[in-house]
Parts: sequence; structure tokens; C-alpha cells
Amino acid sequence: MDTNLTMLERFTRSMQLKEVDKVPVCSVTQTGTMDLMELTGTSWPKAFTDPVEMAALSMAGYEIAGLEGVRFPFSSPDIPQAFGCSYSSGTNNSPPYQTDFPCKNPEDVGNVVIPDNLYESPGMKAMIETTDILRKQIDDKGYELPLICGILGPASFASCVAGVNNYLMWSVKEQDALQKLIDLGGDVCAEYANVLYDHGVDSVVIIDSESGPDLFPPPLFEPMFLQVYKKMAAKMKGLNILHMCGDATLILEPMAKSGFMGISLEEKTDMGYASRVIGNEVCLIGNVSPANELLLQSPSAIKAAAKKCIEDGTRILAPGCGIAPYTPLAKLKAFVEARDEYYSEKN
Ligand SMILES: [Zn+2]
Repeated sequence: MDTNLTMLERFTRSMQLKEVDKVPVCSVTQTGTMDLMELTGTSWPKAFTDPVEMAALSMAGYEIAGLEGVRFPFSSPDIPQAFGCSYSSGTNNSPPYQTDFPCKNPEDVGNVVIPDNLYESPGMKAMIETTDILRKQIDDKGYELPLICGILGPASFASCVAGVNNYLMWSVKEQDALQKLIDLGGDVCAEYANVLYDHGVDSVVIIDSESGPDLFPPPLFEPMFLQVYKKMAAKMKGLNILHMCGDATLILEPMAKSGFMGISLEEKTDMGYASRVIGNEVCLIGNVSPANELLLQSPSAIKAAAKKCIEDGTRILAPGCGIAPYTPLAKLKAFVEARDEYYSEKN
């Protein structure tokens, strides 16, 4: 096996289910921590929206913590904001939360249209500018690693635009209206992903936990989401990942048929089980607990959890969800070191 792979080659080969010398270790979910902010002179909430700060804090995930990828942003109001949702500005330790949404009634869905100059909306514009900055820095510095960007998916889109209560109620009582929003969300997200690829992102993560069993009725996953995901995955022209929070055990098989190359799972889904069921069909990514392991455990316990995750069959070692902002830098470094230790102990 070629051991001279670059980080980008290793990541890409893993996504393509090809053999690698060692699994990549990175995060496909948020990476902003207090330690990294302090060391880079950046801070939330500014780094949520300011392209220069967003780029600097994302880059620190690689340059300081050693994660083998650069991942941004740290919050995702960009798409819903462009469609009329309101958000708080976030604080120094928490992302913006939604304060209002446009679709109060099913009839309002007919009024949701793709705005003119969509990519000039403030959130999306900042994301595109951040991509440009990071692409240039990565190329200038000669870093051969994946640039990874997270955006919301069609379920998140629908639940933001209709509000989460309507989203859940309409899944039973107003399925046509909800399906319209989901379909529109799928089109918008895939096209936006392609704009980000054009600007130099290598991998787009579709964050879409609202379609998962923790929130949405599992029997409705296939009828309401499978075709939408297939269409998106077929349209997206770079490495694509679907991120699912919560326990996704009940939808593993349909997710594997969605066409996404990578499935990023939270730790509530057992990696060993997922690997046995769908590990030969998609690139499983995850799933060390950001709270119960990375934030709270000792470096040696974190290493044990990370090694078990590789043993269980993950193809890309990563936190199960967004890294908690108060996670100490030493623990992120231990997480990265665990991957190397795993292979040296094995040989
Ligand atoms: Zn998550």
C-alpha cells in the first residue's frame, strides 16, 4: 500500500471506498474551539460571519490541532436567512439560533421562491468569500488536504422555513406542502454546493438531521427523502457527505442507497453495526462523541475511543458531531495522535 498519499488523496480514496494506508482523521462538523480562537485572535460571534476570521479559525483546525482537513463554517443560517428566516447573532460560545420563519401556514409554501441574486445574500456571500480565502491560502502554503464545507440539507431547510413544529405536524397532515419545501430545499442546496465546489471546496457536508429518526418518523424517510437525496447526490459535482445526528440505525440502509459517498454518523449509531450493514456501500465517517469523549474524558480515554472507532470500521475518523467549543486543544491533539498510535501498535 502506498504510504506517500497526501491528506487529500487519503480522504478522497476513503470516500471512494479504496484502500488507504491509514484512515484520515479530521472533522466534517464544526471545529471552532475557545483554545483555537485564543491562539488565532479570532472569536465568535464575529467568526460566524466575517470571512477573514472564519478562514483563520478554520485553518487552525489543521495548523494547530492537526486535523487532516480544513472545515468551515461554525454555524449555518446562510440558506434559511436567504429565504426569510431570522436569527440571533450568536454569542462568544454559542451559534446563532432561529427567531422567526416565513411559512406559518401550508398556504405560505406557495410564496417561497428562490430569491434573485441568491448568492449575494449576506450569509452565502460570506461563505463564498471564505471559500476563496481558504482555497488561496491552502494552495499558497502547499497544503494538500481536503477543504470541507458544511451546509444545511433539504430537511433542515424545510424545518427552518416552516418552523420545527409545522415541519413535524405537516409530515403527517400536510405532506404535499412539506414535500414542496423539501424538494425546493434539495434543489437549492445542491446548486449552492456546486457553487462552493466551483470556488474550491473539495467536499460538501449536507447537514440534515431533521430527516433522521430522532425527529422524523422513520417510515417516511424513504418516501419523502430518498429521491430528493438521490437527485442531490447525482447533481453535486464534488465529494459529498450526508451528516446525520442522533440514532440513525433505522435508516442506515436507505441512507446507503441515497447516492451520497460519505455518511457522517453521530455516536448514538453504533459504528460496528453500521459498518457491518452498510460499510461496503458508503464511506462511514465518525463517530467519537464530542461531548462524552472529546470534551469530558482524559486524553488516554479519548485515544481508546478513537482506536475502537477505527477497529469498528470507520473509514474517516472524526467526531460524531460538532466539536464542543470548550474542548481543550490537548484533547483534539490526542484524538489525532490516536490514529497514528493505532497503526504503530498494529504493526
Ligand atoms: Zn450532528
